[in-house]
Amino acid sequence: MTDIHRDFRAELARRFRLDRARTVSVQSASDGTRKLLVAFQDGARVEAVLIPEPNRLTVCISTQVGCSLNCTFCRTGTMRRERDLETWEIVEQVLAARRAWPERAVTNVVFMGMGEPLINYDATVRAANILIQDMGMNFSTRRVTISTAGIVPALRRLGRDTEVSVAISLHATTDETRTRLVPVNKKYPLKDLLAACRDYPLSNRRRITYEYVMLRGVNDTPEDARRLVGLMAPLKAHVNLICFNPWEGCPYEPTPEPEIRAFQRVLLDARVNTVVRRSRGQDILAACGQLKAAHS
Ligand code: SAH
Repeated sequence: MTDIHRDFRAELARRFRLDRARTVSVQSASDGTRKLLVAFQDGARVEAVLIPEPNRLTVCISTQVGCSLNCTFCRTGTMRRERDLETWEIVEQVLAARRAWPERAVTNVVFMGMGEPLINYDATVRAANILIQDMGMNFSTRRVTISTAGIVPALRRLGRDTEVSVAISLHATTDETRTRLVPVNKKYPLKDLLAACRDYPLSNRRRITYEYVMLRGVNDTPEDARRLVGLMAPLKAHVNLICFNPWEGCPYEPTPEPEIRAFQRVLLDARVNTVVRRSRGQDILAACGQLKAAHS
């Protein structure tokens, strides 16, 4: 920009960067899901996933390189946490997704890729707000969702700092089982987590989504279903039952479909809004909990 003063140009160069992420590869699954490997200047890499449905195109983005939570059923948990992403690096994944699928508009964004969004709190909130502001990317607040394993103090702040939707990775109905699956539960047990959910500010139409990954013989019994009804009854809840996506070396197996349906029935009969989420992109390890960004 030679039409601005030399000193000002120097100041801009000193203070700002214009970077772009590099899309290293795009893999396509047989069901149409596309997985992007996105690289930043320092060599850090994360994965982002594009999930097509007839009426929407969802991009699932990462907030950290690796993860520190070590949930025992999640493949990302087998990586070390290398670093937090910066605000622009989180937003840039949505732009990279758009570039990777120019024929269709991205309609939804979920913070459900690698990392725990609420541990990288400031960058996550700034990125989420850039996505929903009209000066930013102008997504509706209901089409952007932050998913968390339940970092309770951060969750309590989140409701004040952004209006995007929230999903809680619940996965169990007792502290004993939940601590085994999601070790951070030891620090923030179910009682505290659900109290924070109860206090979460929601406008009329919105609900919190509770994610529950179905693990054979671990959290999928009829007693679990009944306990889950008890936990959800006082809340404005939407339950997503997630089919477990196995990965090499994992100690769990998926619950068979008929048992998932029976579990869902118990919830529906008690008027708890519940859907079974189909797994997408498994053949390229693009499904929930399969991201690792190992291929360099
Ligand atoms: N750390 C955040 C976001 C990333 S995980 C969180 O915990 O919510 C996104 C979702 O995928 C979570 O609900 C997580 O529990 C789920 N998930 C992880 N591994 C999975 C697997 N192998 N199969 C199915 N879902 C899995």
